[in-house]
Amino acid sequence: MKLKETLLTTPLKEEKLAIDNLLIEEMGDQHKASSVETPMRADAFDKSDDEKIAAIEPHFKAIMEILGMDLRDDSLRGTPLRVAKMYVKELFQGLNPANMPSMTLFENKFQYNEMLVEKNINFYTNCEHHFVPFFGKAHVAYISSGKVIGLSKLNRLVEYFSKRPQVQERLTMQVGKALQTVLQTQDVAIMMDAKHLCVSSRGVKDDSSNTITTFFGGKFQEENTKMEFLKYVEIKD
Ligand SMILES: [Zn+2]
Repeated sequence: MKLKETLLTTPLKEEKLAIDNLLIEEMGDQHKASSVETPMRADAFDKSDDEKIAAIEPHFKAIMEILGMDLRDDSLRGTPLRVAKMYVKELFQGLNPANMPSMTLFENKFQYNEMLVEKNINFYTNCEHHFVPFFGKAHVAYISSGKVIGLSKLNRLVEYFSKRPQVQERLTMQVGKALQTVLQTQDVAIMMDAKHLCVSSRGVKDDSSNTITTFFGGKFQEENTKMEFLKYVEIKD
């Protein structure tokens, strides 16, 4: 009896492989995020940046060689090291919490109690499913709980979370939740509007679609406040 049950509930090895592959494919094309936290390994920061660059270089070289490229060519020779440096020092620098920008708070001396909207913050990030860019505008808003933050810090926070392999849903939530923590208030709203090169330059090759994601915390879940935020975002410069 036991054996029969096991046979019935356990898919065949081939079946399981097919299901796993299907799941991986679906994740890739539907751009779902598995959690709000970026999934990280326990040993993520055992290596220094320089050690990571040195370790990535030969791997990227191998990919190029497998594709058939001759790395003795002057134009290609430096590419593996260049890509390794770019990954660690630029594009994916935000994986390391040590690189989080400092978030100094100030007292809300002016007693400004309305919403503050910082709109059209440019961001560039990379899709974690294809490692090609997606980019666009972030609109960030909060209502002060007594503390305020320098405006440029809002840009810096968006930039920090963008410098990771990302999905837009997670990026939006990470910026929103971090801002809630920093500002000690739930009253935070985020909207991100982006073009994904993995949708426009490959796959379905849809050049005209944009992806919009939102985060509404605290008072921004109330219809009036939400609509006010969306109205400000709509206003053209
Ligand atoms: Zn993608």
